[in-house]
Amino acid sequence: MQIIHHGAVNGVTGSCHQLDINPQSSILIDCGLFQGAETADKTAADQLQIEFDLTHITALIVTHCHIDHVGRIPYLLAAGFNGPIYATTASAALLPLVIEDALKVGVTRNQRLINLYLKRLQQLIQPIDYEQWFTLEVKNSDSGYQQAKAQFNVAGHILGSAYVEIELSGSSLNHNCTHKNSHKNTDIHNSNSGNRHDDDIKNEKDSHLVVFSGDLGASNTPLLPSPKSPFRADTLVIESTYGDKNHHNREHRAESLRHVIERAVSDNGVVLIPAFSIGRTQELLYELEQIIFSQQHNPIWQSIEIIIDSPMAANFTEQYIEYKNLWDSEAKAVLAQQRHPLDFSQLYTIDSHQDHLAVVNYLSSRQKPAIVIAASGMCTGGRIINYLQRFLAEPTADILFVGYQAKGTIGRDIQEYGPTGGYVYIEGEKIDIKAGIHTISGYSAHADQQNLIDFVKGIEHKPKHIRIVHGDTEAKQALADKYRQLLPNAEIKIGTG
Ligand SMILES: [Zn+2]
Ligand SMILES: [Zn+2]
Repeated sequence: MQIIHHGAVNGVTGSCHQLDINPQSSILIDCGLFQGAETADKTAADQLQIEFDLTHITALIVTHCHIDHVGRIPYLLAAGFNGPIYATTASAALLPLVIEDALKVGVTRNQRLINLYLKRLQQLIQPIDYEQWFTLEVKNSDSGYQQAKAQFNVAGHILGSAYVEIELSGSSLNHNCTHKNSHKNTDIHNSNSGNRHDDDIKNEKDSHLVVFSGDLGASNTPLLPSPKSPFRADTLVIESTYGDKNHHNREHRAESLRHVIERAVSDNGVVLIPAFSIGRTQELLYELEQIIFSQQHNPIWQSIEIIIDSPMAANFTEQYIEYKNLWDSEAKAVLAQQRHPLDFSQLYTIDSHQDHLAVVNYLSSRQKPAIVIAASGMCTGGRIINYLQRFLAEPTADILFVGYQAKGTIGRDIQEYGPTGGYVYIEGEKIDIKAGIHTISGYSAHADQQNLIDFVKGIEHKPKHIRIVHGDTEAKQALADKYRQLLPNAEIKIGTG
């Protein structure tokens, strides 16, 4: 068995890991796009190329539908990949929406071509429920494992997200052993002397359990349950986005959200929240509904309009509602009270581009507060741009950041220069920032360092090998140190290219 990383090695994007089961059979776990700074030294074509050999790849397993985990799937298909694409049932529903958007943004606007791609994708997708073992195709080989099965488990990161357990068994080495008398006798002797511990060791010799974490969710995330550790992992490949940090302010973030918005709308201005379509938008809606519910005698909250101006976000929100069976118990309890956390009466969704332009004009022509949630989350494109162009120079307006703003993005510039009355360039136009600029932390959808430690602590049969991926160097190092303290006998490696 061998694991090769084709992405998410030096940074957090481009997730794509190859598990070699035997010399004839390998599977891929995720096939994501490189983004941001990690694309700097690559040409556009290089970022998309499937530069590895697909001959022995029998299947693709998708952990979740973020673009940095699935964005290269169209290129995988173009390179000739023809195997099954396994995803959880909810991810299987989200995947075509994400890929359609990725194709429109990065490849073509030709709807006929897009439809062809999506049809091909639909033919390959195999939806699998959580906690259901499914068999992976393994070709016969003289060496290595001969069988493999896999199972998805709740990762609590975004809707449908999973970590995946892959059990490899039937190693030809063990198979040969049973034909040799001496070995066979030893085996019998061992199991005769046996207690439960011996059986476990024998079991681990016969099979190897590999766990790929995908992206793990943080604790206290609204809507989705937190991940539970697997029972066993011999080899663990784990993300480390926040391997060197702990989230603060999570318990109080809804409170901060309420205070910031109340202050922001006291002058009747609009509040703009740049947010990602999957996950963040739905978490915000959930918290806003909760505030409206708890502020029943507060006229501000009983009259404020909340506008989702993003067809993508609206589509994903529909899927979150469709799969409410995957919500956590707290969110289900809200539903049981006949409340609709993602579809309440003060919420408006804007679909067409024409309506979008009309809303921008309408909001700037009246003196009444509103909250607008629009993508993209770092203001690198999308409908938020038109709002920023219209409202950044408006002293009554407020911009509220709830997500990480990467260096070099418009979002980062506004965050950095806005509070001191600076300016920003949007589409070549210099705009003075007069709007209020606020940042609320604690909205990350990723496990923090303590969550990542607890995930390993919770594994009953501890890993002997840990591969740390999907993080910046400092984050990977810090997490490796923690794991070395926790498991002094395990081999802890930082994924390298
Ligand atoms: Zn993710
Ligand atoms: Zn990721």
